[in-house]
Amino acid sequence: MGLSAARPLLHLILKGRTNPDGQDSDHQTAQVAGKTGMADDANKVVILGSGPAGLTAALYTARANLAPLVVEGTSPGGQLTITTEVENYPGFEKGIQGPEMMEVFRRQAERFGTRFLSGEVSETRFDRRPFEILVDGAVVRAQSVIISTGASAKLLNLESEKRLMGYGVSACATCDGAFFKNKEVVVVGGGDTAMEEATFLTRFCTGVTVVHRRDSLRASKIMQDRAKKNPKIAFVWDSIVDEIHGEPKDGVHGVRLKNVKTGATREFKTNGVFMAIGHQPNTTVFKGLLEMDDLGYLKVRPGSTYTNIEGVFAAGDVADRIYRQAVTAAGTGCMAAIDAERWLEAQNAG
Ligand SMILES: Cc1cc2nc3c(=O)[nH]c(=O)nc-3n(C[C@H](O)[C@H](O)[C@H](O)COP(=O)(O)OP(=O)(O)OC[C@H]3O[C@@H](n4cnc5c(N)ncnc54)[C@H](O)[C@@H]3O)c2cc1C
Repeated sequence: MGLSAARPLLHLILKGRTNPDGQDSDHQTAQVAGKTGMADDANKVVILGSGPAGLTAALYTARANLAPLVVEGTSPGGQLTITTEVENYPGFEKGIQGPEMMEVFRRQAERFGTRFLSGEVSETRFDRRPFEILVDGAVVRAQSVIISTGASAKLLNLESEKRLMGYGVSACATCDGAFFKNKEVVVVGGGDTAMEEATFLTRFCTGVTVVHRRDSLRASKIMQDRAKKNPKIAFVWDSIVDEIHGEPKDGVHGVRLKNVKTGATREFKTNGVFMAIGHQPNTTVFKGLLEMDDLGYLKVRPGSTYTNIEGVFAAGDVADRIYRQAVTAAGTGCMAAIDAERWLEAQNAG
């Protein structure tokens, strides 16, 4: 697709409303249009992703008068919009629904002048200044970039899994384990994550059944030994979950298991299903440009959010293969904002 300066903004829907300076959306749209022109009118900060990391980075950079532009991606609000109750985000004493929490994050960032662009980044050009970011074919220019595109939990892609996510199906034991006190659950997977999640869930559950599609685990020996020794953990080998039974109003009540060797299926009673088949960092568009680890997570300089390219910062799950929590994502979003702000200042651009 061509990148002529004339066409890009037809595709960009700017969702920012009125900022504290009283600018309305039309004025803001014009500002974004200007970004495709002269080098020195590039956005000071463009934030890729609108989950807890991106919206926290937006809040901080907006309050630092940097007028951040957030590219929302296909999942505005990020992963928490596919869950229900969030009980472990500090400040929400009684818990809050995930989508509602992200609405609050968004409004708080918007209050200080954050602008939003709906669309997905398909290419980044970090070899020039200002940087160029392609959003649905249009060019957005940036003096600095904060990447907070997250890491998606790998799922089975069943319709029932999608329908029951947050209603008995989860992809995060740390987040949702406590909702399954004295219940039976299934954990899908055979790697370290699955063993870790299964072992963790035995703190709450009466029984945990690990369903694995092979006849042996991929997990490290130490993790396997720990899980196998745990009297609350049972294993179903050579099998996959090919259907989850239940309704959002009363949760999960069973799964259908399919033996991959014989093709035989059977019903299995359970109160919950945890997907533990790994995460996929959303970094495809940065391949070959930014340093990544063996799983594709962005590498940052220890104790900071600096990537290997000056002026490009990374925050949240996209650079975190260990913790992957909303509060840690928000924490590193704050760090990225401060890093970007100081870096811009040092470039005499802030
Ligand atoms: C079912 C479930 C329940 C959870 N429950 C909890 C919980 O109770 N408590 C808790 O602390 N954590 C919970 N988590 C984990 C938490 O959601 C994540 O740690 C957190 O959302 C990470 O924030 P983030 O901003 O790094 O990324 P994300 O929330 O993943 O946001 C990524 C953003 O990047 C955007 N994006 C991706 N690719 C592109 C692209 N190419 N161009 C533009 N934008 C892009 C997406 O649209 C999205 O807006 C849960 C996760 C899941 C899956």
